[in-house]
Amino acid sequence: MSATLDNDAFDRDYTLAELLPEPLCKAVGPALAHLLGADCAVLDADGAALWGSAPAGAARAPLTLELEPIGWLAAAVPAERLRAAATLLRQLCLARVRYLMAGALHTESVAADYRALLEKHAALEVSEARYKLLSEELEQRVAATVKLLDERQRQLYQAEKLASVGQLAAGVAHEINNPIGFVRSNVATLGRYLDTWRGLKARLADAPAAWQELDLDFILTDSADIVQDSIAGIDRVARIVADLRGFSNVDRPEEEVADLNPNIEDVASVVRGQLPAGVALQLDLHPLPRILCLPGHINQVLHSVIRNAVQAVQDGGRPGTVTVRSQAAGDGVDIAVADTGVGMSAEQLTRVFEPFYTTRGVGQGTGLGMTVAKDIVQAHDGRISISSQPQAGTTVTIHLPA
Ligand code: ADP
Ligand code: MG
Repeated sequence: MSATLDNDAFDRDYTLAELLPEPLCKAVGPALAHLLGADCAVLDADGAALWGSAPAGAARAPLTLELEPIGWLAAAVPAERLRAAATLLRQLCLARVRYLMAGALHTESVAADYRALLEKHAALEVSEARYKLLSEELEQRVAATVKLLDERQRQLYQAEKLASVGQLAAGVAHEINNPIGFVRSNVATLGRYLDTWRGLKARLADAPAAWQELDLDFILTDSADIVQDSIAGIDRVARIVADLRGFSNVDRPEEEVADLNPNIEDVASVVRGQLPAGVALQLDLHPLPRILCLPGHINQVLHSVIRNAVQAVQDGGRPGTVTVRSQAAGDGVDIAVADTGVGMSAEQLTRVFEPFYTTRGVGQGTGLGMTVAKDIVQAHDGRISISSQPQAGTTVTIHLPA
């Protein structure tokens, strides 16, 4: 922005009274009279005296500025001398004009600077208000985005959990079906045996023959077997239920200082219940420092990774092993899940953690297992890394700090 100067400072016409104010007249007038050797008067454009008084018969010499007469010098002296004195006075007036002009210019430019500053200030205030508005808007948008991300993340957790729970339910149903079946059949057999005992009651008079005929020796032995067998079956169901309970910690939100080995055992137990033929699951657990964690979330990670390993062995099309190994490592815990399955291509390796990336068929994989696993591990300040060789196998290592 450039300051515009008022043209008045240059263009205005000065009157003689302005150029020769009273104090100046009082100093210059007597000096002129002395030089002229006669009384003299300084008159304005209208002939009014600014200083002195014109004697009778005095001549007038004009004082001109830019061809305009702005006043006169009057004295009764020869014309030449009067003109010389007028020239002096005129030079004085010119010097005064320049002085006044410079003064006006200075004032004007200061005023212009001030006006420019005011304008700048006003503009700054406007832009400051705009930035404030923008920053408020930005803050709101960031808050909204964070909320949306939170929501999406919860949805991801939920989707993977639902997939786990679905598989789990199928596995559990399968697992429980078998013991329930034979316990039921055992109880039915015991019921029939009781009928036989009832038959003995009617023939107590001839007890030894009846005992023999009813084959009660066998029934006694077999009953004991059946009871043993049934207890074992019911224990198996109870164990499955206990495993499930440990596993379903997924919704327990509190942090705990936990030894992760029992978690690994819980999860392995659940996975074992639905292990396909040709896949062996081995544990190689070593003492671990206790770590502060969300055990339910860690279970979810272990389940996703172990399930992937089992699937990889199955996909490999030959018998294989999944080994879960735990050990203390530096400042925390290392859990490595190694499989002898299909392995991963370079492209798969770069994309495993991508949400919804899956190589499984429609309805078979969510593509969220590893995404959520990484998320949970990072939320525990941990790391998850993968090394893999196509057709040889994969090792997923989870490191969690103590
Ligand atoms: P999903 O199991 O639902 O496909 P994940 O996020 O668990 O989703 O895994 C993504 C993909 O990474 C899998 O589809 C598979 O291609 C690959 N993957 C994960 N773990 C292994 C593994 N142990 N061996 C081979 N491939 C694996
Ligand atoms: Mg998976």
